[in-house]
Amino acid sequence: MLAMNGGPKVRETPFPAWPQFDDTEREAVLRALDHGSWSRLGGVEVDAFEREFAAYHRAPAALAVSNGSHALELALELIGLRPGDEVLVPAYTFIATSTAVQRRGGTPVPVDVDPVTHCLDPAQLEAAVTDRTRAVIAVHIGGQVADMDAITAFAEPRGVAVVQDAAQAHGATWRGLGLGELGGLATFSFQKNKVMTAGEGGALLLPKESYDEAFMRHSCGRAPDLTLRTPSSNFRLSEFGAAILRAQLGRLPAQTELRERRYEKLAVGLGSIPGVTLQGRDERCTVHPHYMTTFVLDPEVLGGLSRDTVVLALLMEGISAFGTYPAVHRTDAFRTGQADPAALAGIAARCPNAELIGDRGVMIPHQVLLGGDREIDDVVEGVAKVLAELPRTTA
Ligand SMILES: *Cc1c(COP(=O)(O)O)cnc(C)c1O
Repeated sequence: MLAMNGGPKVRETPFPAWPQFDDTEREAVLRALDHGSWSRLGGVEVDAFEREFAAYHRAPAALAVSNGSHALELALELIGLRPGDEVLVPAYTFIATSTAVQRRGGTPVPVDVDPVTHCLDPAQLEAAVTDRTRAVIAVHIGGQVADMDAITAFAEPRGVAVVQDAAQAHGATWRGLGLGELGGLATFSFQKNKVMTAGEGGALLLPKESYDEAFMRHSCGRAPDLTLRTPSSNFRLSEFGAAILRAQLGRLPAQTELRERRYEKLAVGLGSIPGVTLQGRDERCTVHPHYMTTFVLDPEVLGGLSRDTVVLALLMEGISAFGTYPAVHRTDAFRTGQADPAALAGIAARCPNAELIGDRGVMIPHQVLLGGDREIDDVVEGVAKVLAELPRTTA
């Protein structure tokens, strides 16, 4: 019997906790405390973290910021986005990808995603581009790197800037290349669920020659000579955040390796359940951090059930799960900027894959992959049980 109906739960014990930390983080916080400059202005931790984070992604430079949303806003500021400019965004992503464009005065243009990788489908770019297109944001959703070869090949000759939203892809590689070797700007988040975290925080990878400009724009528009040059905001990361992130970065390679290994077993288990289709992997994504294990439920297996009911039943079985993000154009956040219902219907018609993933997708968070066989078996058992036993509407 389902736990939802008073039956025994599949899992009584919690999954591995997130974030993971020990004396390394504890000592890092105390080191920043004792240094006495708790701001990067006069401090040392943020500077050191930027060097280490850039090196890890083989990027020319990195700038730490307050969070992933601000990293995106700053990236758009750096490419010179002007009011009215259009930015192509995947129709399936966390909403910050799209709202960052709106907050910079631009117009996000949702583009459908590939049904296998759930990342921006490069074949859909041609139909979406106009003479006002200024940039395309490639989101590495769940840790799967978007098709950077095709996206760059499309954007470069047209003078369209490429921004990678790598908020879910710390340490990922593409054809063996670090994300910092793929050109353009890449943005990251260190929000509490991400594979490295300081509770909050963000970063950009950028060309060396852009660093001073980016630094000025993330620090109230104040130049090194203290003149105030741009109407920018304050996106600085604190020394405490950077100290913790240096420790978290040290854990990332081993955790990523473990998740890659554990994922194999989870994928086999979930993949054998009828009606479950896992997000696929593009083999050119050579390191995949597996931020989320995402699968989409077939309508036949749902038989009228909503995805949210499945997620609720999983949670009651003691299994960690979330519903996928709604398609960008299905949110009030997007609609407030695009009042025309006919335009919205057009976007929906052009983005069937994003709609489907947003409506019927389930995500299992990465810390499940940091446990052992038991954790994987429980997730598979939970999903199989819920799909087998949830009563379907008879209509
Ligand atoms: C988490 C996330 C962001 C936003 O990062 P915050 O640090 O929460 O502001 C942006 N894009 C994607 C794809 C994300 O997952």
